[in-house]
Amino acid sequence: MMGMWNRAAETMSRDELAKVQLEGLRKSLRRVWGNEFYRTRLQAGGVASPEDVQSLADLEKLPFFTKDDFREAYPLKMNCVDRRDLLEFHMSSGSTGTPVVMAYTKNDLLQWAECMARCLTMAGLEKGDAFQIMPTFGLFNGGFGCYHGCRKAGLFCVPASSGNTERQIRLMKDFKVKGFCSVVSYVPRIIEKLDALPEGERDLPSLKVGIFGSETFSDETRRRIESRLGIECFDIYGMTETGGIGTTGQDCRCHAGLHVFEDQYITEVIDPVTGKVLPDGEYGELVFTSLTREAMPILRYRTHDICRILTRETCACGRTSLRIDRITGRTDDMLIVKGVNFYPRQVEQALMEIPGVKDEFQIILEERHGITDVTVNVEAEPGVTGHTVAKHLKERLGFLPKGEVFPVGALPRNEGKAKRVIKRRLD
Ligand SMILES: [Zn+2]
Repeated sequence: MMGMWNRAAETMSRDELAKVQLEGLRKSLRRVWGNEFYRTRLQAGGVASPEDVQSLADLEKLPFFTKDDFREAYPLKMNCVDRRDLLEFHMSSGSTGTPVVMAYTKNDLLQWAECMARCLTMAGLEKGDAFQIMPTFGLFNGGFGCYHGCRKAGLFCVPASSGNTERQIRLMKDFKVKGFCSVVSYVPRIIEKLDALPEGERDLPSLKVGIFGSETFSDETRRRIESRLGIECFDIYGMTETGGIGTTGQDCRCHAGLHVFEDQYITEVIDPVTGKVLPDGEYGELVFTSLTREAMPILRYRTHDICRILTRETCACGRTSLRIDRITGRTDDMLIVKGVNFYPRQVEQALMEIPGVKDEFQIILEERHGITDVTVNVEAEPGVTGHTVAKHLKERLGFLPKGEVFPVGALPRNEGKAKRVIKRRLD
């Protein structure tokens, strides 16, 4: 039996969840209606009063909110509570200047801790286990989010923060650390330092769990880390706007998608161009609505993350929440060829269905006089032909790319985030 932090919430029936979601949605809407910034946006989007939402289907009547709204509301125009009720805030800067701020009431911090405690328990950690926090403690939400979660779940917190790899290793050994959280691209640095140690000191025998956030990683990277460190890897999800790390879920030990905490958030996947809600299984942009947050609830917040809903069936772990795929990229990664939208991850998915095809691939887009040609280079075992690859991609993507097959090891390798898409202009 696998552990659960909050069995009642995590195994709620779909009917109960729908009831909790409608109540939470209506409560959030009434709450933000008292704030001028939100109200103006909602009215501009055609909402006359919070009573416009009477069912979950009415959610579609609400306008979308984006990162630009957060930026415009800097620093606290979106705050819906008495300023004296704010206890903490976090902030992400992003690449374009004005930061995004998320402020927390006491209940918001408890909600964050609750979500994080569910994630930590989902990864097999329990009271007394030592957990090393490698994200930075500061304005970025990662360090404090882990800390609040560790406190709630009763873990022994090792607040290492980022950097100083030798000390990280020392702490993991001395305090018999069982789990840690970091960005996945930091792990090769840890492994490199371990490999440089004298024989007999290169392992971390107590370490069992690695929780990785904010970066996407391939199955191959996961396998490499798991076998070298002898750990199980988990994908944690959450961002400043949703309330920080872990708020929007993680994979359980079945590793069959990320559980989203549906008693806390409503999940939608939309077509990033038309804004239309897409059926389960289709790739699009993830949109979240918070149900319990007080200071700065989010309504139909467009994450720019590309994903799909995998299933609403109960997981083998017993949790009833819907599961989303791992994040496959950003809406900015969307490619349009001959009028068809697609994402690199869809190509990857389609390729993996062809027997003999391996993990490494590249998508090359060549534009000449306004016409784009697509070539998909992939590594495969002998016997797989370019024709087979092209034909399968045509079936799955709706257009016919050129397929080129290479022997294993022939395509360039990248650490961390692999460069899968190459664009060239030929005119
Ligand atoms: Zn599960």
